[in-house]
Amino acid sequence: MQYQSTRGHDVPQHFSDILLGGLAPDGGLYLPAEYPQVTTDELESWRSLSYADLAYEVLRKFVDDIPEDALRDITRRTYTAEVYGNGRPGDDTALITPLRTLGEEEGAPLHLLGLSNGPTLAFKDMAMQLIGNLFEYTLARDDAELNILGATSGDTGSAAEHAMRGKRGIRVVMLSPHGRMSSFQRAQMFSLQDENIVNLAVEGNFDDCQDIVKAVSRDAEFKAHHAIGTVNSINWARVVAQVVYYVHGWLLATDGPGQRVSFSVPSGNFGNVCAGHIARCMGLPIDRLVVATNENDVLDEFFRTGVYRPRSAAETHHTSSPSMDISKASNFERFLYDLVDRDAARLGELFSRLDTEGGFDFTGTPEFDRIADDFGFVSGRSTHGNRVETIRDVHERYGVAIDPHTADGVTVARHHLTAGVPMIVLETALPAKFADIVREALGRDPERPAAFEGIEDLPQKFDVVPADADRVKAVIAEHTGR
Ligand SMILES: *Cc1c(COP(=O)(O)O)cnc(C)c1O
Repeated sequence: MQYQSTRGHDVPQHFSDILLGGLAPDGGLYLPAEYPQVTTDELESWRSLSYADLAYEVLRKFVDDIPEDALRDITRRTYTAEVYGNGRPGDDTALITPLRTLGEEEGAPLHLLGLSNGPTLAFKDMAMQLIGNLFEYTLARDDAELNILGATSGDTGSAAEHAMRGKRGIRVVMLSPHGRMSSFQRAQMFSLQDENIVNLAVEGNFDDCQDIVKAVSRDAEFKAHHAIGTVNSINWARVVAQVVYYVHGWLLATDGPGQRVSFSVPSGNFGNVCAGHIARCMGLPIDRLVVATNENDVLDEFFRTGVYRPRSAAETHHTSSPSMDISKASNFERFLYDLVDRDAARLGELFSRLDTEGGFDFTGTPEFDRIADDFGFVSGRSTHGNRVETIRDVHERYGVAIDPHTADGVTVARHHLTAGVPMIVLETALPAKFADIVREALGRDPERPAAFEGIEDLPQKFDVVPADADRVKAVIAEHTGR
């Protein structure tokens, strides 16, 4: 398996080479030179596997430089019922991503695939926990260290910290806007007492935090001296880890070869649904990939009209499904590369038009028809009112409380049902994380998994710092001792 960049002009790389990196040197994103395939027989033979062993079978198709027994050991240590044991009462947490059937609508079985039973109750744990163990393995092998610097408004930062806590050779320095996270989110991050977790509450907003990360990353000398890396959503290993649960969802929703299912995916940075695209390209029998957005509907606009017009930060709405509040979907480039038949020059030309014209347009091109016909993509958007209504309706009809992001997925899925084709909505967070909208919809607080009772009362460890890159650099230097 060789990797290449979507912008085309760099040397091909192996899996471990790109594991710790972000963008390729030419500014593109990494993808395999070609997608490995899964056959019908292979899929059938996977029905009896545990999630961990299924993950091993899928990952080994992409990982070319970690020995097979080491990789199997990593997946078995990652996907355990202890780590992913926060599911709803009645769900089989040993399945890691249990499938809950809601009912049948318009002749289509409607399911939820529970991806949020990990330590931070959101789907980012699915990939981040694996990455923590992959990092620890490769760093020990190469006798190296890594200091992960990140900015978070809540979800990604806590998933990264819970994945890296206590890991040898890794330290996490996470910037968050002081006083702007929910008390639950603060507790999830700041109650970690591990020595290798450093929480910095920045006197500023999320954009200030991101600007500091960018400023530190631009200082190449500092970055190299302190072995600074990131784990943002373009990380290839995160995307590939997510391919596994599409396969698992298909296995749980079907009982024989070749049956087709559709997935509805609450989308922001296009990382989750990009994994679905890759699973489909590998030969998994997926009918539709439903891209569900909230009011930040850049992606919905593209899939409906062919016009891609990223927004500015100022045009980005703050919504009640906040983890999907993005203006520019960073993983979208991976799909576009496939859409233009992996023509890196053409892709570069499209992206240069983003700078000069603020967007590009596939309307009326042969590629536009391929988006749905060849790649299976359809889309829709949902609003705060839709979310409240859907949370209430799913609870009334099926007795299940869902979170606002999953509600976006259900809302949009309902516009794309086909009789006889199971629709699997990815449950990207548990409602316990988003109490306000659940209260608005159901008139009561969401239930909390037992392990989360009273976490707000635990002692917290964090430092408040001014929104100043030099001050943050000084703190990093203090911790690395270099
Ligand atoms: C990150 C996130 C999303 C969006 O996923 P992308 O991979 O960015 O498209 C959706 N829901 C929740 C709860 C998330 O945390």
